[in-house]
Amino acid sequence: MNVPFLDLQAAYRELQEQLDAACRRVLSSGRYILGREVEAFESEFAAYCGARHCIGVSNGLDALELILRGYGIGPGDEVIVPTHTFIATWLAVSRAGAVPVPVEPDEATHTISVAGVAAALSARTRAIMPVHLYGQPADMDRIRNIAIRHKLKVIEDAAQAHGAICRGRRAGSLGDAAGFSFYPGKNLGALGDGGAVVTDDDQLAANLRRLRNYGSPAKYQHDVKGGNARLDELQAALLRVKLCYLDEWNQRRARIADRYLEELAASPRLMLPIVADGVSPVWHLFVIRHPRRGDLQAHLSRCGVETLIHYPVPPHLSRAYSDMGFVRGTFPRAERLAESVLSLPLGPHLSPAAHTHVLSALKSFE
Ligand SMILES: *Cc1c(COP(=O)(O)O)cnc(C)c1O
Repeated sequence: MNVPFLDLQAAYRELQEQLDAACRRVLSSGRYILGREVEAFESEFAAYCGARHCIGVSNGLDALELILRGYGIGPGDEVIVPTHTFIATWLAVSRAGAVPVPVEPDEATHTISVAGVAAALSARTRAIMPVHLYGQPADMDRIRNIAIRHKLKVIEDAAQAHGAICRGRRAGSLGDAAGFSFYPGKNLGALGDGGAVVTDDDQLAANLRRLRNYGSPAKYQHDVKGGNARLDELQAALLRVKLCYLDEWNQRRARIADRYLEELAASPRLMLPIVADGVSPVWHLFVIRHPRRGDLQAHLSRCGVETLIHYPVPPHLSRAYSDMGFVRGTFPRAERLAESVLSLPLGPHLSPAAHTHVLSALKSFE
């Protein structure tokens, strides 16, 4: 039996009729850029997140970069980011012209350490950019408290956390602004690239509507040197269909995660994800740790089980950031995680039989 890491074809098959109809609706409308679908998706997704505004943009990286630009954060400024994340979090800061200041993860949850954030503050710090890693919200109450005391913006990297809840509030309404990605493999995935900013901040929302569209609030009026970072009309129509299924598909993910947690609890050397009190993660990924990660991954592969590593190289050791001079050993927690994490198959279309196969393959290694 072969178990793929994630089955995107099955996701399409389940909603094929509605997705095809949404495509035809856009194709025959004659309106392909910033039309009714983008507008409707923006209000639907803002409502879903419990926020006033949603601004559809081209992808998750652009969403994060534009939030920084929209706040006027750039050269000379510092933004606190996690060491253990996908490199896009750092790249958003660098592309805005600011400096990413890395902070190590909490040992239990692997989201950014709050004590680490407090220790990394400087006179140049303008924002904290926590990542709701693997679908679990960061410790937002305590991060917000630090931000309020020091007059900083909290910018959620919510690319992995559509629908995740922290003390009754959804990702997207846990900070000053949030960047979402609709990359196909995310919990809410487009059938191509897409992203969004969600915020309650009226001024930021107005800035972002200009920044994503040549700096223009109205045709041929250009207030700032903006770019072209719009959400595509076709992707918006597809996302409107998939948004209706987000909660149900997240529940399927949660059931799979619960079964992993239950059946692997007795495995001696395998470390399971830890969920903090007061949060409901959306299980974008189910990430275990194992001291013999390489051997385990090879064993699973021989059993037909596809696994991935999120992420094998921490941003500070990637060549892109060699200019910052970080050597191996600078951020040991992130480096240890990079060497030991393994993401197991999990998605709304993982069948019970396939799941059983993954579990027995795991147990036969232990
Ligand atoms: C996917 C992802 C992004 C970037 O999103 P894109 O749409 O691929 O640009 C940013 N941050 C995190 C944590 C992600 O997982």
